Amino acid sequence: MRIYRDEDADLRWLQGKQIAVIGYGNQGRAQALNLRDSGLQVLVGNQEDAYAEQARADGFAVLPIARAAAQGDVVMLLIPDEVAPQVFREAIAPALEEGDAMVFASGFNVAFGFIEPPPGVDVVLVAPRMIGAGVRDLYLAGRGFPSFIGVAQDASGHALDLALALAKGIGSTRAGVVEVTFAQEAELDLFTEQCFGPAFGQVLMTAVDLLVEEGYPVEAVLLELYMSGELAYTLGKIAEMGLVEQAALHSRTSQYGTLSRSMRFVMPELRQRMRQGLEEIRSGQFAREWAAEQAAGYPTLQALREMARTQPIHRWEQELRQAMNYAPPSAVSLLGAEPAPCPSRKAPTPRLKQTIHRLRRLLVSRTEEQAGAAEMRPLRPEEVLPIVQAFLARLPGDAALRAFARDRDLTVHYVLEEPDLEFYMRFVGGEVMAGLGAPPERAHLRLRARADVLDGMLTGRIPAIRAAMSGQIRFDGDTRLAMSLQTVQERLGQIYREARQTTR
Ligand code: NDP
Repeated sequence: MRIYRDEDADLRWLQGKQIAVIGYGNQGRAQALNLRDSGLQVLVGNQEDAYAEQARADGFAVLPIARAAAQGDVVMLLIPDEVAPQVFREAIAPALEEGDAMVFASGFNVAFGFIEPPPGVDVVLVAPRMIGAGVRDLYLAGRGFPSFIGVAQDASGHALDLALALAKGIGSTRAGVVEVTFAQEAELDLFTEQCFGPAFGQVLMTAVDLLVEEGYPVEAVLLELYMSGELAYTLGKIAEMGLVEQAALHSRTSQYGTLSRSMRFVMPELRQRMRQGLEEIRSGQFAREWAAEQAAGYPTLQALREMARTQPIHRWEQELRQAMNYAPPSAVSLLGAEPAPCPSRKAPTPRLKQTIHRLRRLLVSRTEEQAGAAEMRPLRPEEVLPIVQAFLARLPGDAALRAFARDRDLTVHYVLEEPDLEFYMRFVGGEVMAGLGAPPERAHLRLRARADVLDGMLTGRIPAIRAAMSGQIRFDGDTRLAMSLQTVQERLGQIYREARQTTR
């Protein structure tokens, strides 16, 4: 694959052209400033608010979006992807003329058909692999950052030259840019967010959870795993030196331990799940789901955010961050500068002591909780089936569940391990059906867990959120349906506990 550098790009493709940067946020501000500093003619399109004030303070002419688009020969759409289709439809498309160019910093909307620019305009992609602050800082430091460029429509016959010129103008060809399609950019980006990121997050959560459960102090666990910044620093070195070469920076004990144990964590299921995630992305299923979520006002996103905040790790991190007199290496260190001092630093000693005391109390109460849970005798494998049978028999007649089933069509398939057991619940048109085995219809949602984990969740010993976040319970299917089930989780728990009491 060709890597384009400064010498492959020519700013003359932009000379005499008016660039209209629409949006003055993370990317908009950084790219507008860099383009102007590269000697190009830039104006900003934004509604009148703090972003517009910032652009004026930076010396730009600011116009309403439709007027900016009309004045621009090259229109760069640097606003959030989820609002871009409407803004494009209402303010930009009517202003585009033959010979203009539309520039995107993300392939998403064009790749999934949410934006269809008219024929006669060039449609190009200049997508930095860098956050906005880095785009500006690295430009000022005389360094570059990689970008993906692409062409979706080449009306002028010089769309690639234009994309390269823009990449040069923002400072990216100093580092090198590669050409991809809009779809490749969007799919890779979504894959990182939906497959690589969550898998990595689960590894981290599992490690924290396990070590805390084994009695290691929370603060030591967090510092060891990532909060010292060593992990971030190592990732920087991996990017700089490569995964293999950076190993030389670690001790021989570390090298031997890592290399000799790595095969243990080769899990075919991981690959399979990543492939499934990629398929959802490529087929447009995710894009449609996300569009529906936006249209509904983000109910699932809000619920998921709240769920994440209820994780104990969120509180532990906050406590530790406040207690530490230390700012871990961050993006700032990309420039070789010292990290900025942490603004929330306080006199460390008494505060640190107080926090450690609190964290210890947290740990103790956790241990007590665990001890309390341990008193409740776990089920023997042979006890699971009769309890599940009694539980399922109670579901169809329950008024609260029947109310939940009104205006709904939801089939949930539970797959238990140790002992292996399957059952289902079906909520449809005010009726509740339940039975052992796989459901007669295709399930909308499949939940898998060890029987003792499900027992713990339904008896309240194990918080459902924690079980989900730590991977003890896994689900396939629509996230929104899984969230909707949460609304009857408490009732299901009550019914299960009754069944458990009368059966044991
Ligand atoms: P921001 O969230 O920083 O964009 C904020 C800007 O968008 C403001 O000027 C804001 O103005 C404007 N905006 C927000 N809502 C609307 C609306 N409804 N109508 C009109 N303008 C609106 O976006 P980013 O810079 O993060 O992202 C811009 C593009 O860059 C996206 O395509 C993104 O995928 C891509 N990208 C982003 C990267 C990043 O690191 N952030 C990295 C690489 C690419 P106001 O609120 O006043 O309307």
